[in-house]
Amino acid sequence: MKINPIRGTHDLFGEEIIKFNKILFEVKSIANKFGFSELITPIFESSELFKKPLGEQSDVVLKEMYTFKDRNEEEITLRPEYTTPMIRAAISNGLLNNLPAKFFGTGQMFRRERPQKGRYRQFNQINFENFGSEDFFADIEIISLANNLLKKIIPDNNITLHINSLGTRENLKSYKIILSKYFKDNKSLLSKESLDKINTNPLRILDSKNIEEKEIIDKSPKLIELLSKSDLSFYEEVKKCLTELGIKICEDQTLVRGLDYYCHTVFEFKSDLIGSQDTLIGGGRYNGLIKTLGGKDIAGVGWAGGIERIMLLMKNIPKENKDIHLAILDSNLKMHAIKLYDYLIKNNYSVYWNYKYNLKKSLSSANEMKANFIIIVGENEKINNNYTIKNLSNGKQTIVDINNIFDHLK
Ligand code: AMP
Repeated sequence: MKINPIRGTHDLFGEEIIKFNKILFEVKSIANKFGFSELITPIFESSELFKKPLGEQSDVVLKEMYTFKDRNEEEITLRPEYTTPMIRAAISNGLLNNLPAKFFGTGQMFRRERPQKGRYRQFNQINFENFGSEDFFADIEIISLANNLLKKIIPDNNITLHINSLGTRENLKSYKIILSKYFKDNKSLLSKESLDKINTNPLRILDSKNIEEKEIIDKSPKLIELLSKSDLSFYEEVKKCLTELGIKICEDQTLVRGLDYYCHTVFEFKSDLIGSQDTLIGGGRYNGLIKTLGGKDIAGVGWAGGIERIMLLMKNIPKENKDIHLAILDSNLKMHAIKLYDYLIKNNYSVYWNYKYNLKKSLSSANEMKANFIIIVGENEKINNNYTIKNLSNGKQTIVDINNIFDHLK
């Protein structure tokens, strides 16, 4: 019986898992520097958590969620994003007493999209969230954190930060009406795909990659024109501060993001080297969302980054070689070698031993894998409890008593 992986899923191993773990390492390290605590939530949640907050007409809710009824008829969804589960967890566990409350998490998300390069049905995200801060400093902090992280993992890539402001949720509602009317007045210039979105989600027409629609989209009314003076000045502060931190910004008035809960600052880090799925990190403010989910009426800002997309831009990382190899002169010495293997590992050495190899094969593989030492276990070693250690960089061979083995390996 041969069972294939489910379409849009992938296994991680070899070079890929090394890159994956490097990202997790850097995420944890930067989270620590910026004072974000780790929060891991379940992979599935009640469907209600996602439907309304993400938007009943959003692509994710309409077409992409993996939703099913559990045996007790409860409707469950495999999480398609991490912000709402993090808020749910912060509320459920009373984590919103000291504000701002700053959390991060990494894990699998699920969306039934059409698979392509950089787009999977099960993929891994990094999430950073700041709950309870109205201040524009929270926007700067979270964007600067993302910028630092990308610089650390993929330093030589030309990644651009696109930014826009949506103003309040009310602004966005009015804008949708204005946009719907504008596109209705210009129906003849739209593709079938965009026509379908006029009434339900006109904002998504702005993301169209269809060249023939570019002109009509470029000329569409701009959301920024609806922003109040104070919202505009908030946005100006954000841009000014980012520029002062040396973070180059690219203002993008068509950037609206795909989920309903966003307001004010929205941003995306993009690369032009990975094809059409070019957003590495996307996020923004979501004031009002925490209250919608049953929490306090406090603000929030955060982002999500795609681990697989970031991996596309990473160079291969050289594999760490095992410093110490073991070799046996005869297969009846296996038991003795296992004890030595166990002893070395318990003392924090990392050891390579292929118990199928004879001495000759062990030596050649140790040389190939650029090991520093090979320890040879023979009959004599077993009787006297001392070992032959060969230093592979200078070829010197020494017999060492078990009690002096660590000094020698240093
Ligand atoms: P979003 O919640 O759609 O803004 O997604 C945030 C980030 O997650 C994106 O910028 C991507 O890097 C990543 N991402 C989203 N959907 C997928 C997917 N289907 N496959 C791989 N990565 C994804």
